[in-house]
Amino acid sequence: MALVNEHFLKLPNNYLFADIAKKVNIFKATHKGAEVISLGIGDVTQPLCPAVIEALHKATDEMATRQGFRGYGPEQGYDFLREAILKNDFLPRGIHLDIDEVFINDGAKSDTGNIQELIRWDNTVAVTDPIYPVYIDSNAMIGRAGMKGEDGRWSNIYYMPCNAENDFVPELPERRVDVIYLCYPNNPTGTVLTKGELRKWVNYALKNEAIIFFDAAYEAYIQNPSIPHSIYEIKGARKCAIEFHSYSKTAGFTGVRCGYTIVPKELTAATLDGRRIPLNPLWNRRQCTKFNGTSYLSQRAAEAIYTPEGKRQVRQTIDYYMENSKKMLATFKDMGFDVQGGENAPYIWMRVPERSDSWRFFEELLYGAHVVCTPGVGFGPSGEGYVRFTAFGSKEQTEEALERIRKWLK
Ligand SMILES: *Cc1c(COP(=O)(O)O)cnc(C)c1O
Repeated sequence: MALVNEHFLKLPNNYLFADIAKKVNIFKATHKGAEVISLGIGDVTQPLCPAVIEALHKATDEMATRQGFRGYGPEQGYDFLREAILKNDFLPRGIHLDIDEVFINDGAKSDTGNIQELIRWDNTVAVTDPIYPVYIDSNAMIGRAGMKGEDGRWSNIYYMPCNAENDFVPELPERRVDVIYLCYPNNPTGTVLTKGELRKWVNYALKNEAIIFFDAAYEAYIQNPSIPHSIYEIKGARKCAIEFHSYSKTAGFTGVRCGYTIVPKELTAATLDGRRIPLNPLWNRRQCTKFNGTSYLSQRAAEAIYTPEGKRQVRQTIDYYMENSKKMLATFKDMGFDVQGGENAPYIWMRVPERSDSWRFFEELLYGAHVVCTPGVGFGPSGEGYVRFTAFGSKEQTEEALERIRKWLK
């Protein structure tokens, strides 16, 4: 008899976006003609830039010829892209990585979810709260998270709340943890860590022989030059951190699928008898077994982001979103809301008024201003009392939404 992996049964159904859609549909059904604007979307909306489109066409034409056709590529990705990454994303920051430390992925979600295969089931995992749900759920699926309690917390997960009390800067764990997930710039709060703050985490990991899984999916949105784009800007991080990158938010690749993961050769984890095992060859082994590479077309498209035109065009789109973000942030502050983020990330995290909560405010905003946000509690227990706004809408819709909120408040 085939037995099911019962750990899956402990997972709550991820109804957040389905619940939002349902509530929006009920509103629409009872308010015919009302036009709803969503500032809740977590997907980009601007088209791919011309340099990327050109590269896609070119790669497609190559595939149509006998000489240009490519079948299976290297599981680790093509060297043309890995080299472009080293040269553009790391060397200018003084980070010297080896090409074998770069693994091209089909988006950061897969690898942030899969990476936990490299560590034993009984490691203690710490996450900031609120958080991107993939980190916890992927651990829950193999039983590492324990059971989910009434309070929304998993029994074996160490939660590091990020809220007004600590100014949204997570505090170092009070007890020893083995694995730490960090995502900066952060989804959903839009906050960042300074170099000094990130250094504390690297030092903690080195001291406690812990590993940091660092999700840098939003690094391209950083505006302040003093904020680190990569954890490897911190000394010692190569010994304790794996870093995930994605072109999804950087260059609108949510539908193209490409990113990369850095697994430094110096990074090791221990066996029970105390030997230190490098994780780079293990990840390589894992990828060669379970992954057949990202498509050639996607990798050529990603390469184009690093050309001078590509860089300029990608920057333009990011500037467009950050212009929305700036406007939202200024307007919300002007309205008297308590808001975080939005300066180095396309997300704004708003505290809902005292009398309300995440879901109640979501509905108030929907019915009052016909604007959709995302209830913060959907990102973890510490998200209760907050909502997330994204800057991924169009300029016009974002401005219209802000105008409606202003009128609604009056
Ligand atoms: C959007 C996002 C990603 C990127 O996922 P892809 O699979 O690359 O599209 C990764 N991490 C976080 C926190 C995100 O919000």
